[in-house]
Amino acid sequence: MANIHNNYIDGKWIPSSGGDTYEQRSPADLAEVTGVWQKSTTDDARQAVEAARRAFESWSGLSVYQRAEYLNAALELMIERADAIAKVITAENGKTIPESRSEIASAVREMEFQIYQGVRTGGEVMPSSMSGVLAYTIRRPLGAVAVIAPWNFPFNVPARKITPALISGNTCVLKPAQLTPGAGEQFVRLFEDAGVPAGVINLITGSGSVIGAELVTNPAIRAITFTGSTEVGRSINAKAATGMKRTQLEMGGKNPLVVLTDADLPAAAAATALAAFACAGQWCTSTSRAIVQRPVLDEFIDLLLGHVRKIVVGKGDDKASTMGPVCGQTQLDGILAAIEKGKAQGATLLVGGGRITEGDLAKGCFVEPTVFTDVTADMSVAQDEIFGPVLSVMTVDDFDEAVDLANAVEFGLASSVYTADLEKAMEFVGRTDVGLTHVNMPTAYKEPQLSFGGVKASGHGIPEAGPTGIEFFTEHKTVYIRTGV
Ligand code: NAP
Ligand code: MG
Repeated sequence: MANIHNNYIDGKWIPSSGGDTYEQRSPADLAEVTGVWQKSTTDDARQAVEAARRAFESWSGLSVYQRAEYLNAALELMIERADAIAKVITAENGKTIPESRSEIASAVREMEFQIYQGVRTGGEVMPSSMSGVLAYTIRRPLGAVAVIAPWNFPFNVPARKITPALISGNTCVLKPAQLTPGAGEQFVRLFEDAGVPAGVINLITGSGSVIGAELVTNPAIRAITFTGSTEVGRSINAKAATGMKRTQLEMGGKNPLVVLTDADLPAAAAATALAAFACAGQWCTSTSRAIVQRPVLDEFIDLLLGHVRKIVVGKGDDKASTMGPVCGQTQLDGILAAIEKGKAQGATLLVGGGRITEGDLAKGCFVEPTVFTDVTADMSVAQDEIFGPVLSVMTVDDFDEAVDLANAVEFGLASSVYTADLEKAMEFVGRTDVGLTHVNMPTAYKEPQLSFGGVKASGHGIPEAGPTGIEFFTEHKTVYIRTGV
């Protein structure tokens, strides 16, 4: 019998008041239960929010340096426990151990930056138009905030969201995805073991539609930061608007990588293969469309296939694997259905296209790395976020057509162009409709000191990370003081 895990509310690990639990299964072997988790109720969510609300006064009353001390202690534990945390991420999400380690390394960098940013974020002193008046602004924390996390970066996303929330004096309730509660638990334990006071960080597991709804509408919640699908993001935004709550929504993508005739083709092919198939194509910044100028199409595809053939699909904890399973049955079914739709609509299946049904891997959610060519803009494989190891290669005649095609989707998260022509590169930077663009670099590249967020259906609200990480979780107060001097 797998371990039973509890919610963490007001500094205590407690079961759901409803008494129900659910099993999380390994995507590498659906027969294997990795843990039993609380199926929390609306009541549990209310309790967690109440704990966060109560803890706010004393937590926000500490100096930012005192809060930084707690958070630095949690960060040290994160570094110490990286191996153990990586195992939990791999067991639940399926990604390979090196991919899990790299997720933790990113979380460390995000956390380091946000703590540093917290202790140097102040207001501004402005000259007053009256003599003898001191005029300045300060930033204040909001209160209790809700953090709704996805399963694809189940550890790094909480780190990126919760660190700026806590350092600036907010308290929070974390709801991890049902598929990856253990990563959320590992994250919260760092804070518990660092001695962070009860109620500052709370964890409740269970269904997004049940506890998510309470978190989004509870009057004590001042802001909701969410990463996940566009559909759920939209519904959260609509509900939050009624309560005048802030939202920060990081959602889907259909990220293009454009390859022009003068591109460094080996570099473009390597970047495409990396960002299309790492974590089985389940990065929100994964490359899902390669838009290639006709004269270099054949050579680009040859180079790309060279990389794809080297991918070793296998269990995440098997050292030989370079690509793990996709995260669970629902994802698997959706990806396979999207592949069938692509075939039916006339795209050419160049490689892959199916579930692995032989041997040990047949027990898990393993999909072959898949490449479609002859994809046109109207096909669903060109439009829909598949969120799996599926790449659509599209052909264009010129630069303008490439840019128009790159923009011809509802999403606007990340993009990239490969070219040696600086003018074309800069024109692409100007015209691409995304929140994150690259020249001669993979679509997924990001650094913690810069903001991260999409436009169009990919993002809404003040973006995460960088200086805006803290901006989202704070409000302004403007102060005028008649000093007489
Ligand atoms: P999802 O279904 O939208 O779920 C995301 C989170 O929202 C989960 O914790 C989920 O809980 C919760 N949720 C579900 N319904 C809810 C509701 N009605 N109210 C409140 N919360 C609710 O997305 P996913 O399938 O986990 O993740 C895949 C998607 O995330 C992809 O579309 C991907 O592009 C996007 N993503 C975006 C970024 C980015 O930064 N832009 C990063 C990573 C992922 P349950 O697990 O209980 O359903
Ligand atoms: Mg979902």
